[in-house]
Amino acid sequence: MLTINVAQQLKESIGAEREYELSGRVDIDGKESTVEGQVKLTRTDRGIVVEAHVTGKMKIACSRCLAEFDHPLSLNFEEEYLQTVDMASGGKLSLPGDCGNFTTDARHNLDLSEAVRQYALLSVPIKPLCRKKCAGLCPHCGQNLNQGQCQCPSAQVDPRWAPLLELKDKLKGKG
Ligand SMILES: [Zn+2]
Ligand SMILES: [Zn+2]
Repeated sequence: MLTINVAQQLKESIGAEREYELSGRVDIDGKESTVEGQVKLTRTDRGIVVEAHVTGKMKIACSRCLAEFDHPLSLNFEEEYLQTVDMASGGKLSLPGDCGNFTTDARHNLDLSEAVRQYALLSVPIKPLCRKKCAGLCPHCGQNLNQGQCQCPSAQVDPRWAPLLELKDKLKGKG
């Protein structure tokens, strides 16, 4: 769980800091990822500011060969979680309209999962590659060329290289 109960901290004065180590599972794009991180929580006048450093990995698909691979995560973010319920009275606090902030829940739990999910998705490159020189798929038979050549004629040696290969063979013969 990436949830921290901040009830005690909300009773402290503005500027009060706490640090936590946490780890847990986050659902990112329908796939479970295990992450861990260090967070610093600072009490503000309207909630808690979280400074988080989160690492882990998530499964994403290569844009060239479509194979899934582990994309390493190293996320640094800062978000203010607004307090939704008054500590003393238990009454609902009014939130600034369409602020887009995260919030703590009625029991003063601060859940980092959604922030981690959003920052993880932002960290994914537009065209992710499983490796720098991913060979991709054969456009004819669909074979993953990282796992070896297919039998398609077009996948055989590019004719422009043929003279070089002949030369190589000749040199070998002499040696
Ligand atoms: Zn690939
Ligand atoms: Zn092929």
